[in-house]
Amino acid sequence: MTKYRVKVDKDTCIACGVCYSTCPDVFEPDEENKSQVVSKYRSSCCGSEGVIDDSVADCAQSARDTCPVQAITVETVE
Ligand code: SF4
Repeated sequence: MTKYRVKVDKDTCIACGVCYSTCPDVFEPDEENKSQVVSKYRSSCCGSEGVIDDSVADCAQSARDTCPVQAITVETVE
């Protein structure tokens, strides 16, 4: 199963809410309404990074594509 690394650039995020409306399985608002990865997929380092699998990859990629400031990256983990 393919794994994907998801990152949110919180400095770029404008807290518009599109990503966590589009893909609540992967993204949720933090205390400032900026995006973060839900705890299920979150990396230990911080809320802005996580690793997901194929089951939610399409929705994460849709969220990335609809973010108005390109703050989300989704890349395949080698
Ligand atoms: S869609 Fe982009 S700008 Fe909007 S909350 Fe998500 S990461 Fe932030």
